[in-house]
Amino acid sequence: MTSDKDTMQTELFRKRCREHHLKMTPQRLAVFRQLAGSRDHPSADAVYRKVRKVMPDISFDTVNRTLLTFSRIGVANVVEGYGEPKRFDPDTHGHHHFRCTQCGAIIDFDNRAWDRLRVPEGIRRQHTVMNTRVVLEGVCRQCKE
Ligand SMILES: [Zn+2]
Ligand SMILES: [Zn+2]
Repeated sequence: MTSDKDTMQTELFRKRCREHHLKMTPQRLAVFRQLAGSRDHPSADAVYRKVRKVMPDISFDTVNRTLLTFSRIGVANVVEGYGEPKRFDPDTHGHHHFRCTQCGAIIDFDNRAWDRLRVPEGIRRQHTVMNTRVVLEGVCRQCKE
């Protein structure tokens, strides 16, 4: 994992840590690298299982806490919950999700028009909207087969 994109992401991660006065520990870097390399919006448990392979002594608690810290400093997003364990998204740029109601897969997609959806008046008056994401629900290709 030494592509340019990887280096860029790691650089951004270092910067965010500095801004938030967080120490760049080997644990944090390992968790970040596993999350950044995941396209499937993994749960803390899924990240833990991967990190453990390169860092056998790390605890689930450390991984979980680290992921929550990442979402606090804007390095990752927590994906909207559905009463299941939290899922984490390394892509903090605006994009939309298709969610399979059978297997729980969360698939990214872009749609320029939906990025600019108009927030309903009533919501805008009462609340502050920080980002707009459309979540489609249905049955994914794998589950349909
Ligand atoms: Zn599915
Ligand atoms: Zn996503």
